[in-house]
Amino acid sequence: MAVVSAPGRTVVLGQSPGAVKAFTDARVIDGTDRAPIDNATIVVRDGRVVSVGPAARANVPAGAERVSLAGKTVIPGLINAHGHVGNTVGLEQGHYSAENVLRDLRTYAAYGVTTVFSLGDDQDAGFKARDAQNTASLNRARLFVAGPVLAPKTPEEARTLVDNDAAMKVDIVKIRVDDNLGSTPKMPPEIYKAVIDEAHKKGLRVAVHLFYLDDAKGVLDAGADFIAHSIRDKDVDDSVIGMLKRRNVCVCPTLTREVSTFVYESTPEWFSDPLFLKHADPKAVEALKQPARQEQMKNSRSAQRYKVALEQATRNLKKLTDGGVVIAMGTDTGPPARFQGYFELMELDLMAKAGLTPKQILASATRDAAKCQKLDKDIGTLEPGKWADFVALDADPLANISNTRKIASVWIAGNRVER
Ligand SMILES: [Zn+2]
Repeated sequence: MAVVSAPGRTVVLGQSPGAVKAFTDARVIDGTDRAPIDNATIVVRDGRVVSVGPAARANVPAGAERVSLAGKTVIPGLINAHGHVGNTVGLEQGHYSAENVLRDLRTYAAYGVTTVFSLGDDQDAGFKARDAQNTASLNRARLFVAGPVLAPKTPEEARTLVDNDAAMKVDIVKIRVDDNLGSTPKMPPEIYKAVIDEAHKKGLRVAVHLFYLDDAKGVLDAGADFIAHSIRDKDVDDSVIGMLKRRNVCVCPTLTREVSTFVYESTPEWFSDPLFLKHADPKAVEALKQPARQEQMKNSRSAQRYKVALEQATRNLKKLTDGGVVIAMGTDTGPPARFQGYFELMELDLMAKAGLTPKQILASATRDAAKCQKLDKDIGTLEPGKWADFVALDADPLANISNTRKIASVWIAGNRVER
């Protein structure tokens, strides 16, 4: 096995089949309800966890490569349950390519986001990336795909489009039920009912973009499986909480999506954060600093309305959490000015601002996001059999969720990610 050493770090280039690694001396938060394990050892074979436990009980095979994570706190890799990849260059969309997909998956990984569930606009290169990732040599974020966002005009077309989705083996079907603050027609119930019905017949789940409480109730009634944004027009009520819980439907808050709609009316303070600048597209950052653009956003009615929507979404996140609804961390990053990786870490802070505890937030961004997207057999916690996707932090995220920014290293299938 090729190993390159540099001051303070070791980079492992590729893994031979059957390769075993032992990550030692770490404090491990395994993502289950188990208490953190001090001085833990994680044994990894072929990219998957063999065991996680106190060093004294670890069974490290002879010849295993040892990696010390002394002084670090390990958490499962973060899972973004609503992102997008491959489309954006600078502040423009429509550039989908294999290179851009890979670029985005590396960017996510650099910030500890080891899986992104794309909710739409996925093309062939995205499907190929997904199909190629079940390998012990992976070193970028995992990707799951929804294909095109479906916008059928008739129930018949709805069924045809869902059948196309099934043929291309999407991981979920995605639709929008929204009028964009009253500016566009909204998908009517007879259409989304046909989409959901046909998807369920094909064994597929349906993720719904929405804004309004009444639409949430409508799509839940019709059998929607995943709510891809916060309810942002009014307070959630007991009835919608009951509907979500009865069918175990998760809600994905995407608070940073709202932020992106108004924050560039001035230059955000994080534009000087080295962690942000490390991977942000400099062209996008420059464009967002232009006074004319900022002025335009300041005067935009929709920007100001989404600012209010963020407050509503924040309040609803707390109400849903207190009501026992499962929250899947997600951001809707990937479109222009929604910066992948950095925004996921910002999302965690916004969830804390909403009143969630670090433990709740971490669960939402790991185990729960995995469960909500039916990925929990393979990821979400550090348990035997799952991929060894994890982040080593320099500080304890259970003390302060912002400590997820203090990234020492990121590992995917036990491989150190370049960052
Ligand atoms: Zn989206």
